[in-house]
Amino acid sequence: MIEEILNTIKQHENYKGQIVKIYELNGVDYKRCEVPSFIDERVRKALERLGIFSLYTHQVEAIEALKNGFNVILTSSTASGKTLAFNIPVLDALYRNKKATALYLYPTKALAQDQLEKLKLFSEFPIGTYDGDTPQDERIYLRNKGRIIIANPDILHVGLLPNHLLFGRFLSNLKFIVIDEAHYYSGVLGSHFAMVMRRLRRILSYYGSFPQFFLSSATLENPEEFSFKLVGEHFKWIKGPALSPFKKLFVIFNPAIVNETLNIRKSTLSEAIWIVETLLNQGKNVIVFEKSRKGVEILSKQLKERIGNTFEISPYRAGYTVTLRREIEKRIKSGQVRCVVSTNALELGIDIGELDATVIVGYPGTLSSLFQQSGRSGRVKESITFFIVSSNPLDQYFTKDPEYLFSNKFESISIDLDNPYIIKPHLACAAYEVPLSPDIDSEYFGNYFGNGVKELESNGTIVKKSEHFFLNSKTSIASQFSLRSTGEEHIRLIDMETGKTIEKMSKKRALEEAFPSAVYLHLTETYVVKKMDLENGVIYLKKEQTDFYTDALAIETIWIEKTIREKQLRHINVYFGEVVVEEVIRGFVKKQFFTDRKIETCPLDLPKIEFKTKAMWFTIEDSIVNKIKSVEDLPGSIHALEHALVGMLPIIVQCDRKDIGGVSHPKHPDTNLTSIFLYDGVEGGIGITEKAFERVEDLLNITFKSISSCPCKEGCPSCIYSPKCGNENKPLSKNGSILLLKEILS
Ligand SMILES: [Zn+2]
Ligand SMILES: [Zn+2]
Repeated sequence: MIEEILNTIKQHENYKGQIVKIYELNGVDYKRCEVPSFIDERVRKALERLGIFSLYTHQVEAIEALKNGFNVILTSSTASGKTLAFNIPVLDALYRNKKATALYLYPTKALAQDQLEKLKLFSEFPIGTYDGDTPQDERIYLRNKGRIIIANPDILHVGLLPNHLLFGRFLSNLKFIVIDEAHYYSGVLGSHFAMVMRRLRRILSYYGSFPQFFLSSATLENPEEFSFKLVGEHFKWIKGPALSPFKKLFVIFNPAIVNETLNIRKSTLSEAIWIVETLLNQGKNVIVFEKSRKGVEILSKQLKERIGNTFEISPYRAGYTVTLRREIEKRIKSGQVRCVVSTNALELGIDIGELDATVIVGYPGTLSSLFQQSGRSGRVKESITFFIVSSNPLDQYFTKDPEYLFSNKFESISIDLDNPYIIKPHLACAAYEVPLSPDIDSEYFGNYFGNGVKELESNGTIVKKSEHFFLNSKTSIASQFSLRSTGEEHIRLIDMETGKTIEKMSKKRALEEAFPSAVYLHLTETYVVKKMDLENGVIYLKKEQTDFYTDALAIETIWIEKTIREKQLRHINVYFGEVVVEEVIRGFVKKQFFTDRKIETCPLDLPKIEFKTKAMWFTIEDSIVNKIKSVEDLPGSIHALEHALVGMLPIIVQCDRKDIGGVSHPKHPDTNLTSIFLYDGVEGGIGITEKAFERVEDLLNITFKSISSCPCKEGCPSCIYSPKCGNENKPLSKNGSILLLKEILS
């Protein structure tokens, strides 16, 4: 029985009452029904061969919606059979129409490979993965004969779209486009992906081909809006079960306090070790999720040292070779590996068999990740999940309001369809693929299209010939930019020992992350920046073992360029718009790995960075400001509130805390009022603060709960401290921020 584990944990010598809450999730009943009669006999036979005689109702709903001509987005829990919901209709179409083809898109090569294995089980059609590893003859075969091509967004961007003429047969007959793990496409990648979809759709219309889309996703907020933004077409949402069919205990575990006054807790890693050990001793097979690659290595090393003689323990992460990963997956599946410690690399679909317990070390960043990770155990029987929270505000929030986890609130996914830095290069790509026609293409590319074309024409990237715009080059520019970053990547990071470029990045990112003496992490190795030569666009690094990392201390100034949306919310006016941010990196802090203890602060003298982005800001009525001033320090109060808002925003919008910046001002020159700004840290914006604008009331309420229920006296890392504050967390007034929120929300 799974409950016995809890007793053993509670009797352990390390147990000091860390369990905050135990949720008993009773398995939901997945209703079954027959395979729809309209499905081709050959598909039904193939299913029967695999022992499948009935389907879940959500699978059938999705199949029927597709049959009725809808684009479909299916959201449901892990292991709820999302794959069959699209494989069945796709194969059905392929059997009925000898020419029909389908395109599957996966965010990683490993997932594409996994899907290929599944498809091979019940079809004899020419199918293959098309990515950077595919040999030339296999590529030619797939282009000429392939019925299903499984690809990733990057190869679509640089390989398939610019060379669409080679894929003429495939594209003309395309009936379905499947985008699996669609929730993965948020932020920068999501905004680029949306543009790639528009390029794909306009090429398809050139071939007279109008396929249906199928998106499968973890549970998320507002799937219809998300799918519309991502693809540019309307979708029907099929809502599958959000929970597993088997019973699960979900335990929220807050590390023991070691220093009461400063509200400092034991590290998540040290708590994880004894929990994992207890689970293994109880005969359970365990999967542990750690956020960073380095954390994975350290945790598995420590576990191996302690109990490696008794149990086989293995780390797993991106960066390992494909062969090694396949090998580990096999050993987990066979039960040989009793404990695997992984980054989120094992969070998505790959089949690793039956596991009994999940240990999640630190909040993985989104609720859907949290549930996906938890869902990696208990696919066929009851299971237990330990969610060990870290000390940052977001993690601690779940100990104060644990119900939130199961309240069916999910993050919005941010996608920006108006970021000029992202759209412009895609317009140039599109002009190469099929010449741009303003009246047709403005429909695909939206608001920015007209200005984008003007700019590209004036700098000579595209040229106009009889009403159409052509790329002024014989080759596509697609390979010149990546879908995983914005802006131009002029700066090269060079390993001094090998002379090789290990990474390229924008000047902004270089100044923020690879400043002189910075510790830069690349493929789990630590490098130290030895020389920065911005004029020639190079930064030299040397591989060095360090037990600390570095955080830049940035001071920002912000100006409003244009207000796009505004609204009033009780005592504040809320705005969304375009801003210019000026950032000066005035120094950096060295912090010890894992404990995050500050070692020292060092000054820097670097050129300032100026960039355009989007922001959400609000101004506070003078009457409230005067009230605060009479009892608390105003700059400290708004500064504390700004930090807390940045810390809590990722609960509302799927994003990383480091992609958001904040500025507070007692009297901002552009508004003439006390103002707090939150801005997208990526040039041009990626939709984060636009969502924050829409859900500002939720954000303020959650932030109020977070600060006011924190047990500290004057502020701590769990409420109002920010690890990257350019003023090193001064001045801050916890009481002032609570009072301010009370007034705003009253
Ligand atoms: Zn606190
Ligand atoms: Zn600050």
